[in-house]
Amino acid sequence: MRNNIEKIKQELSSNIKLIVATKTRSIEEIKQAIEAGIGIIGENYVQEAERKFEALKGKVKFHCIGHLQTNKIKKAVEIFDMIQTVDSVKIAKEIDKRCGDIRKIMLILVEINSGKEPNKEGVMPEDAINLIKYISKLENVKIKGLMTMAPYFDNPEKDRPYFRLTKKLFNEIKSLNIPNVDMEILSMGMSDSYKIAIEEGTNMVRIGTKIFGPRQ
Ligand SMILES: *Cc1c(COP(=O)(O)O)cnc(C)c1O
Repeated sequence: MRNNIEKIKQELSSNIKLIVATKTRSIEEIKQAIEAGIGIIGENYVQEAERKFEALKGKVKFHCIGHLQTNKIKKAVEIFDMIQTVDSVKIAKEIDKRCGDIRKIMLILVEINSGKEPNKEGVMPEDAINLIKYISKLENVKIKGLMTMAPYFDNPEKDRPYFRLTKKLFNEIKSLNIPNVDMEILSMGMSDSYKIAIEEGTNMVRIGTKIFGPRQ
C-alpha cells in the first residue's frame, strides 16, 4: 500500500492534494496510510466515519465525500473537517444550523452533477451559481470550491468533458469574487480517472482502489 501511495504521489505535482477514499477499509489500513504520509481521508457514511473518528481523531483530517441525509448532519459536523457534497439549500442550512450549535465553521465544497445524470447527487451546473450565492450568506459555512463525480464509463477518457465543464464553472465562479467564497479547491478524479482529471486542472484527487485494491 505504501508503494501505491508513493507511486501516485510522484504523479501529482505539488499543488495537487491526494485524499484517500477509505469507505469499507479498516482502521488498521487507514493507520498504515497515515504512516505513509496521508493527511486526509474521505468517508462516505456518517456511521462508519464515526467509528473511525473515535480511533483516529487528531491523526488525520476527515472529509465527507458521500451524500448526507439531513438526520445525519448533527453528527457529521462533529466529525468532518470538510463536507464535499453540499448540493442543496436544505443541506447547507442544516449544516449551518448544527455548526452554529457547536460554534464551528464548516468548510464545504459544492458538488456539481457534471453529467446532469437524473439519479445522481450534485447541483445541476446551471444552478450552481445561485446556490453558491445563497450559501455564501450563511454564517457557519465557508465555501472552498467544487467537487464532482463524473459519470461512470469503462473508458475514463470519456470523463474528460465533465471534468472540463466543472473546471470552467470553477473559473467562472472564481471570477465573480462572491464575498465569503474562496474558490481554492477543485476535487475531481478517482482511481480510474485521476490522470484525466489532472490534465483538466484538478487540484484534489480522491483515490481508494488504486491504493488499497478492490473493495469487497
Ligand atoms: C469511493 C469514492 C472514491 C474513490 O473511488 P476509487 O475508484 O476506489 O478510487 C472517490 N470519490 C468518491 C465520492 C467515492 O465515493
